[in-house]
Parts: sequence; C-alpha cells; structure tokens
Amino acid sequence: MIQDFTYLKPDSLKEALSMLAEYGEDAKLICGGQSLLIVMREGMVTTDYLIDIKHLSELDYVKFDEKEGCKIGATTTHRSVEHSDIIKKNYQALVEVEDRVASVQVRNWGSFGGNVAHADPAEDPATFLLAYDAKIKLASKDGERVVPVDDFFLGYYETAMEQGEMITEIQIPAPEPKTGSAFTKFTLLENDLGVASCTAKIVLDNSGKCKSAAIALGCVDERAIRISKAESLLVGKSYDEKLFEEVQKIVLDEIDPVADIHATAETRKHQAGVLAKRMTKLAWERAKA
Ligand SMILES: Cc1cc2nc3c(=O)[nH]c(=O)nc-3n(C[C@H](O)[C@H](O)[C@H](O)COP(=O)(O)OP(=O)(O)OC[C@H]3O[C@@H](n4cnc5c(N)ncnc54)[C@H](O)[C@@H]3O)c2cc1C
Repeated sequence: MIQDFTYLKPDSLKEALSMLAEYGEDAKLICGGQSLLIVMREGMVTTDYLIDIKHLSELDYVKFDEKEGCKIGATTTHRSVEHSDIIKKNYQALVEVEDRVASVQVRNWGSFGGNVAHADPAEDPATFLLAYDAKIKLASKDGERVVPVDDFFLGYYETAMEQGEMITEIQIPAPEPKTGSAFTKFTLLENDLGVASCTAKIVLDNSGKCKSAAIALGCVDERAIRISKAESLLVGKSYDEKLFEEVQKIVLDEIDPVADIHATAETRKHQAGVLAKRMTKLAWERAKA
C-alpha cells in the first residue's frame, strides 16, 4: 500500500526547484515512477509530497557539439537516448546499454535522469557514464554545480545530491578519434537487471597502441566501479589476445561481489571477468575499425 501524499505538478524547472526548497525532506521527485513506485509500494520510501517533473520538456533533449560533447536532459526517456542519431554516431556502447535496459515499455516511460538518480548498482547507464568520465549537472534554488560521475555515485542508492538539488543534465565528453566502446550484461532473464555488466572504452594512438582504456563494471559492488589496474596494463600496448586474458585475471583479483537471490558471489565474479575480457577486446577491435 502506498501511503497518501500530495501530488504537485510544477510548470517549469524553476517552479520544481522552488517546490524542492519549500518542502525539503518531506518531498520527492517523480519522473515516471518506474523505480520510485516500486519502492513506495513496498513501503521502503514514503513521502508527503511528490513533485512530478516528467512533463518538463525543457529537460528533454540530446545535444552534441565536438567541444562540449553530449548533453542529455534529465527527463529524456531511455527510448529517446536509444534512438538518438547523436548517440548512434558517437557512443556505440550507450546504444547497447539502452537496448538492454528493461523492456521497451519501461524505456518508453523511464528517464535517463531518474535512472542515474536512483543509483541502483545494477542499473546499466552507470557503467557507461563511468567509462566516459561523464558529469552530472545538479540544480537547486540557489544555483547549479557539476559533479564528476565518479564523485556522484556514493553507494547503494546513495548519491552526492544534497537536499533541494536535482539532476538537470548528464554531460558526456566527445569521443576522441580512434575510440571504440562496447557494453553487455549477463542476466537471468533477457533485459532484466544484470548479474554482472561491463562497459569498456579503448582509445588508440596513430600507431595502433592503446592510448587510454576504461573498464567499468556494474552489479559487483555498492556502485559501478572502474578497474584501474586492468586499464593501466593496456596503456601503451599493441593488440594481443593475451592482454584480454590478463584483464580477466585482474578483474577476478580486484572485485569482491556479494551473493543475492540472482547469483552466488562466485558466479557474479566469474561473469564479470568474462564480460570484461570480451568487452575490452570488442572495444579495441571497434577502435581499430
Ligand atoms: C521492470 C523493470 C525493469 C528494469 N530493468 C532495468 C535494467 O535492466 N537496467 C536499468 O538500468 N534499469 C532498469 N530499470 C529501471 C529503469 O531504468 C528506470 O527507468 C529508471 O530507474 C528511472 O525511472 P524513472 O525515470 O521512472 O524514475 P522514477 O522512478 O520516477 O525516480 C527514480 C528515483 O530518482 C529520483 N529522480 C527522478 N528524476 C530525478 C532528477 N531529475 N533529479 C533527481 N532525482 C530524480 C526520484 O525521486 C526517485 O528517487 C527497470 C525498471 C523496471 C520497472
């Protein structure tokens, strides 16, 4: 049973921020309810005021320029991101992320900003955002600030957002030349939350050696994580199958996932290692193409 609440529908971002400031910890944002209503129905979250921002079209956009990169407004649906020509052209791994987020129905209604704000360690966009060093733009009645995604995710359902703040935009740097990226996840049911997930990004230099690498894993810790030891191993190296085996070994050493109803800790660990090996290899091959 959902406890009674007052439903508020601001006409603008400015009004939403005023409401957040006015009702403080008694209020929560809703942007589709794909995640929030589940936890409210279970009684895990209660609120006196629900501020609905779903219809705020001023936060519904995907923009790109070579200098500033990509900007995704917080209320943009997963489906709009998935179908965006900008995303298809520049961020192959994000198309793969969005293709695997839940069902088409959920993607049609759930928002990119709501997904990031919910901060479930099994949610898929986080691995991509971490691999691309994305930034999260937050706004409150008093102004704006931009937080690197690595500082934004703090742990299970926990973020750096403060009282009165909301996400307005997700900023993703433009890809360098010779960038390849890839995402996949292992699930028990197709398009369910993952047992393990991975985004890899490889940038090559003009001689075909690895200039930089990013390997981000989901579902294996309290939040999405980067495997920096494996990333450093790749930098300066030429393509070699043995490198990917080494990435897998490092992942096994570096992570310590927990068991839950979906998988044992061992299964999760094994899957994460395999996915990291495969996605790193695929990202490298895409960077070469
Ligand atoms: C059946 C099912 C399967 C799913 N499977 C996956 C999956 O495989 N992978 C995956 O990544 N996700 C999955 N999800 C989650 C889905 O991606 C949701 O779209 C996402 O969680 C956001 O939903 P929403 O936009 O409706 O946000 P809501 O549910 O409305 O809000 C979620 C949380 O974010 C807060 N919030 C919303 N917008 C903002 C904002 N702009 N600023 C600050 N706080 C905000 C709310 O207060 C709430 O705490 C699944 C969901 C369902 C129902």
